[in-house]
Amino acid sequence: MLWQRLLQPVTKMNIQASIDHWVRPEIKALSAYHVPDSSGLIKLDAMENPYTWPETLRQEWLELLHKTNVNRYPDPQGAELKQRLRISMDIPEDAGLLLGNGSDELIQMLALTLAGPDRVVLSVEPSFVMYRMIALFAGMPYQGVPLKSKDFSLDLPALLAAIEQHQPAIIYLAYPNNPTGNLFTAADIRQIIKAAPGLVIVDEAYAPFTDASFMSEVGRHPNLLVMRTLSKLGLAGLRLGLLAGPKPWLDEIDKTRLPYNINTLTQVSAAFALRHESVFDEQTQLIRQGRSQLSAALNGMDGVTPYPSDANFILVRMPASRANEIHAAMRDQKVLVKNLNGSHPLLADCLRITVGTPAENQAAINALKAAL
Ligand SMILES: *Cc1c(COP(=O)(O)O)cnc(C)c1O
Repeated sequence: MLWQRLLQPVTKMNIQASIDHWVRPEIKALSAYHVPDSSGLIKLDAMENPYTWPETLRQEWLELLHKTNVNRYPDPQGAELKQRLRISMDIPEDAGLLLGNGSDELIQMLALTLAGPDRVVLSVEPSFVMYRMIALFAGMPYQGVPLKSKDFSLDLPALLAAIEQHQPAIIYLAYPNNPTGNLFTAADIRQIIKAAPGLVIVDEAYAPFTDASFMSEVGRHPNLLVMRTLSKLGLAGLRLGLLAGPKPWLDEIDKTRLPYNINTLTQVSAAFALRHESVFDEQTQLIRQGRSQLSAALNGMDGVTPYPSDANFILVRMPASRANEIHAAMRDQKVLVKNLNGSHPLLADCLRITVGTPAENQAAINALKAAL
């Protein structure tokens, strides 16, 4: 009876009983996404751009925000921003374009559009964990095909066999891949696109740090969508991702988008940033140089194995069974990197170091040397 329930005191006990009854078991089994406290640390764990904006640009931005009103709902289509993105990312003219609150939201929209208990999401492993997580949230079965252990390249025969067997609704390929940093072979990806019965999403989150891209192939394959984000470019705080692909497909996915998902401040600020793209080009150039220097320093170090990277981070294998201890010792020296040991068998003993400023990279090298 409702009135009886209302009269019951709310105790820890009946909250737990209610949770046990109602929360989906697969959600209850999860632990919440954990972001470690990084205050006071050199933050090289999350692939952020370490550079901020020059003061003059900041002033100009603040003047623009001063003229921006937030009493009205945002532009529902984000028309001006989309136009800017088309230019800056060379999105083919006839391609459809959909914006998300980060590319994470686009992954969620894809799931909402295609979900069903027999609709498989397929990706490679190790890769970006949100592909698997969001499949789980949406009740879609997930299949992960291991990368080759030697160099994290695609195991094409295994992938083609998995496609044949599972007939996936969605295949995700991060290009370059996170957390391994490598680019897969483009010809292999094209074979996967050809063999896939459903959508293939090429996730180009790290596009600013590589010259390779599938963007120019959007429209040439009926089932290819290319996903990008502004997060790794240097606008992680704005939360803006985009999906480009055949317009009829994006029109369907757009139906699952929450109205006004891109807030006014993000629309105005991102369009402003893209009007001053050269600032970000300079920053990404610096990060690319920093990557070469960091990689050379790691290569010269005894006992650690850095992997080649086309992204703004480097995956490094530590001496056997020492990753946890080295990660903690680096943290004690105020350098926070990502510990991937234990997250996937192929990542045993691995840390992932985001490329920072030259001074931050040097601090990471020093901390690692001291920890080894
Ligand atoms: C960081 C990352 C994203 C997430 O980007 P947001 O736009 O910040 O949600 C997507 N895909 C890959 C492969 C990433 O590494």
